[in-house]
Amino acid sequence: MLSAVDMSERVRSGENCEEILHEIYERIRSSELNCYITLNDKALDEAVQIDRREGGKSGCGKLLGVPVAVKDCISTRGIRTTCASRILNDYVPPFDATVVAALREEGAIIVGKTNMDEFCMGSTTETSYFGPTLNPHDTSRVPGGSSGGSAAAIAAGETIIALGSDTGGSIRCPAAFCGVVGLKPTYGLVSRYGLIAYANSLEQIGPMASSVRDVALLLDVISLKDRRDSTQVKLPPSDARTNFNADSVLGMSGDDAISSLKGLRIGVPAEFVHGISKDVERAFWSAIHALEDEGASYEEMHMDTMKYALAAYYIIAMSEASSNLARYDGLRYGLRLNRDDDWHTTFSRIRGEGFGEEVKRRIILGTFALSAGYYGRYYLKALKVRTLVKREFESAFRKYDVLATPTMPMTPFRLGERIKDPLSLYLVDVNTVPINLAGVPAISIPCALSPLPVGMQLIASHFEEEKLLKVALACENLMNAHFL
Ligand code: GLN
Repeated sequence: MLSAVDMSERVRSGENCEEILHEIYERIRSSELNCYITLNDKALDEAVQIDRREGGKSGCGKLLGVPVAVKDCISTRGIRTTCASRILNDYVPPFDATVVAALREEGAIIVGKTNMDEFCMGSTTETSYFGPTLNPHDTSRVPGGSSGGSAAAIAAGETIIALGSDTGGSIRCPAAFCGVVGLKPTYGLVSRYGLIAYANSLEQIGPMASSVRDVALLLDVISLKDRRDSTQVKLPPSDARTNFNADSVLGMSGDDAISSLKGLRIGVPAEFVHGISKDVERAFWSAIHALEDEGASYEEMHMDTMKYALAAYYIIAMSEASSNLARYDGLRYGLRLNRDDDWHTTFSRIRGEGFGEEVKRRIILGTFALSAGYYGRYYLKALKVRTLVKREFESAFRKYDVLATPTMPMTPFRLGERIKDPLSLYLVDVNTVPINLAGVPAISIPCALSPLPVGMQLIASHFEEEKLLKVALACENLMNAHFL
């Protein structure tokens, strides 16, 4: 499959994109994976328009003609956006999220909206109202979640690149389980305008692809500065349109990236490595030793507050969710049931029938954590833990350039294996949620593909995406040479 970098270059220099899009739709039609909830019925027309250079689609655009899949929690004008929930089954947004407008402006073609856990709540894509997505490496296993449709679509050639969102691991977990690359940007780098909120103090939209370079290119496009998101920072230079420029990553050769590993200081927090499965352990340490062979040094270190991170994450995420999801009352938009009951009964029925079990569990737990008498004991305490976690990352980055951990503590497990036991599902997020509490950027890249994919997570300090992507590029080249 072509990379986005190559494809956009070819289309810009006059080659057609329609044929590639046709191939992708053929694959989607014959696929059993269930990567998409809704397809974009205008995509082929858009490709023809680009090929004929109509409607101002001249030979420019960083993603000209490139097919991109968009997670179904990101608003797309005129294309149904369900958040994989019955309650939004018929919702067609009247506006584009800022990231989607940026994609269109750069000439990308939206293939469709990808499957996910309902309202991003899950790590397997099994809580979707539209049924689970299957892992392309082994269809009896989960693809990870919540952006499972996006990751599986890339791995199966049902798109070239994709957008996901990550509140506590939802980009990195499916990237690891499907053997692709996924980056959670620093909190505040990418606009969240048009992202349907789950836990807004934790989440970011981010790029997913089959290579580090494509991830860098997509990040460049979506980090468009936007006044409509007050939590987005505006990085210098002040006249730059985006918060991240991919040129220095795209211009770096694989060999140069590998040479730049000399002297790199890597911290490996022991708390992220203990208790992981044997397969993951083997692949992770082989990758670390390959980096060491190229002149990087690593040290095992400790991050003491990590043992509280998972609990703090779930309290904060559920509390924010209980408040964010209060807007689905069936009166203004979303599911409407044709009943003549009084307001209370209608409201309860719509939410009772519109939300799935996991979403309801989280609304109830979040409401409890915020209620009078418990607020201080749970929510406030979780916020204090969050501050400590953030400080511990800041102090780690005074000593190390990057931290490296396994992304997930295990390889993809079987569909149905954990879904009946919510706590065991929450536990699989142990290595990804601390990053969202701290707000730092992290990327997952494959460090093994068989018998099942394993992801390595690299973490850098706030707004150090450029450094992170360069180290990831070096790792990718080493992994391709040695293990994949
Ligand atoms: N699995 C985590 C959760 O269920 C993370 C999900 C996410 O990042 N959206 O909250």
